Amino acid sequence: MHAPEPPADCPLCPRLVTYRHANRLGNPEWHNAPVQGFGDPAAWLLILGLAPGRTGANRTGRPFTGDSAGSLLEATLIAAGLATPQENGTLHLHRTFITNAVRCAPPGNKPTPAEVHACRPFLLGTLEALPAARTIVALGQIAHQSAIKACGGKLPKHPFAHGAVHRLYTGYTVLDSFHPSQLNTNTGRLTPEMLTAVFAQALSAQP
Ligand code: SF4
Repeated sequence: MHAPEPPADCPLCPRLVTYRHANRLGNPEWHNAPVQGFGDPAAWLLILGLAPGRTGANRTGRPFTGDSAGSLLEATLIAAGLATPQENGTLHLHRTFITNAVRCAPPGNKPTPAEVHACRPFLLGTLEALPAARTIVALGQIAHQSAIKACGGKLPKHPFAHGAVHRLYTGYTVLDSFHPSQLNTNTGRLTPEMLTAVFAQALSAQP
């Protein structure tokens, strides 16, 4: 068994620990710690992002909250019936869970391969804690790679491609999307319609 969440002062990635401490000094009112996943323990769908954005999840303490990537994902989930907005501004997820492949904010939103590897046991723990979650929407290439590995697949057999559906022999299905980052949406690489289509595909595969 693996722990689904790291401790608040997880020491495993020295570069990210240094960054965490620098953010605490500069912005002591922010979360500035590993960001825990959130959602429904009975989830059939796991949404896997890359890592907390420095001024998004790293500030608010909740994945995909407080930045433009979160706004687009939130609107998409609400429209798909996977989430309901709450009066206090939070999101109630319906049989859906959201977390990141890397739980600490990395400089420039770019974790190293070693950091992704170091954090994967927490993804394994999240999967173990969500026994009904056999469908994963992976947002971006790094999330895709971590999801495929965590689900027992081989990357050469399962390359990342937006819209791709990977059915693994272990029973997991991984659906790929470009990450809803500001860069991807501003350049038109990912449109709201493209993201909506990925979740429609996930819903069509709902057990
Ligand atoms: S990214 Fe993951 S493994 Fe690395 S320090 Fe943060 S919580 Fe620990």
